[in-house]
Amino acid sequence: MENLDISKFGGTSVKDFESMLSSYKVVVANPNTRVVVISACSGVTNILVELASGACSAQKTEELIAKLRSIHTEIIEKLDNQDDLKANLEAHLKEIYDLTQEANMGRSDELTDRIVSHGELMSTYIFTALFNFMGTKAQWFDIRNIMRTDSNFGCAAPLVEVLKAQCQEKLLPLYADGESIVITQGFIGANSEGQTTTLGRGGSDYSAALLGEALNAATISIWTDVPGVYTTDPRLVPHAKPISELTYLEAAEMATFGAKILHPSTLVPAVRRGIPVYVGSSREPEKGGTWVRPKTESHPAFRAVALRKNQTLIVLASPKMVGASGFLASVFSVFAKYKKSVDLVSTSEVSIAVTLDAGTNTSGQSSISESMLEELRRFCHVKVETGLSLVAIIGNEMSNLPGITTQAFDSINRYAVRMICYGASNHNLCFLLKSDEAVAALVEIHKHLLE
Ligand code: ASP
Ligand code: MG
Repeated sequence: MENLDISKFGGTSVKDFESMLSSYKVVVANPNTRVVVISACSGVTNILVELASGACSAQKTEELIAKLRSIHTEIIEKLDNQDDLKANLEAHLKEIYDLTQEANMGRSDELTDRIVSHGELMSTYIFTALFNFMGTKAQWFDIRNIMRTDSNFGCAAPLVEVLKAQCQEKLLPLYADGESIVITQGFIGANSEGQTTTLGRGGSDYSAALLGEALNAATISIWTDVPGVYTTDPRLVPHAKPISELTYLEAAEMATFGAKILHPSTLVPAVRRGIPVYVGSSREPEKGGTWVRPKTESHPAFRAVALRKNQTLIVLASPKMVGASGFLASVFSVFAKYKKSVDLVSTSEVSIAVTLDAGTNTSGQSSISESMLEELRRFCHVKVETGLSLVAIIGNEMSNLPGITTQAFDSINRYAVRMICYGASNHNLCFLLKSDEAVAALVEIHKHLLE
């Protein structure tokens, strides 16, 4: 199909009947939308992660399962074929219950992925029924048949070549009639043994982009609860302004530095194929949104400011290293071994400071392990600082224009800055600040540079 669009709807866009109906209208308004990827209904993944923790009492388990039942039943009751839908829901809840008992004997990331996958399996089944109820031909598709990943449960990496081949063989024929719509799950996949995996929290955007790449889509649409990307999170600055277009580079910087709107990996497959990505509101599609493209008409020095909480600063020092070489190499080989991606780096002759995201995988396991720190301690002094947040100013040509740093520094001269990163990329200037001052600093920066 020539102008194929892949549309993804997040948890808030399918959280209840009204939201699902708005999302349905968005899909049918665009005849090019043939593949629809959705998340679990809002709140469902969190409940499933809790059930998978292995720490739920019998009473808590009952309570959480009842909550899952009510979220989905409220939607089902507005549809027809209720017997089938209710039977399907009960089968999922029974399976979730059984797996929860298993988790209570000993939790694992593998088991967590099996449990959380039911969120997307339930929401897609109901969303498909809603299409048929509205008289639009739609098919439910189990994405695990094609979304092949490695076996890194909780944060699995897709095997793009396998996915491409599987898409052509199994997904494309389902909508090749130019009429049918396929509805499928974001976030979940399967390894080569058929075991369920997940791409990490918020991974549905990434799923949609991977499918867009594999099916050679003309556009990838990410539908959410806000009309596009703003100059900063409107919950922090209510008068933040919508941005009508962004380059891939700017959007990638924003996602990496905490703008919640796109999952940081989302753009990677889009960039590989140069597919434009649209971000809009499923509830208010008429409000417009943001196009993310290879190039844009405007490229202001200051485009946006983002906040990334929960940063861990690791300061490594080795006085022995004066005049010697290889210190950075040894430090980074440890990060590589533990698959830690380093965000900011600042160095001096005998010390190096790096920030790592204190992020977690799908089961909420911290990604900074004691054994990694132990390994670092073998050859240098290690200090770990927490309670920090990153405020990132995103823009264009930042290190080529005069006055950029003065303007940025002036805007936060009331705050103590723990670390600064500037110059490696032309697109960002980052400050590491105490978490309890970071929002206030962001508001100041927005006021000075973006209003
Ligand atoms: N349902 C998953 C989550 O809450 C995936 C997603 O929403 O993208 O993380
Ligand atoms: Mg989401």
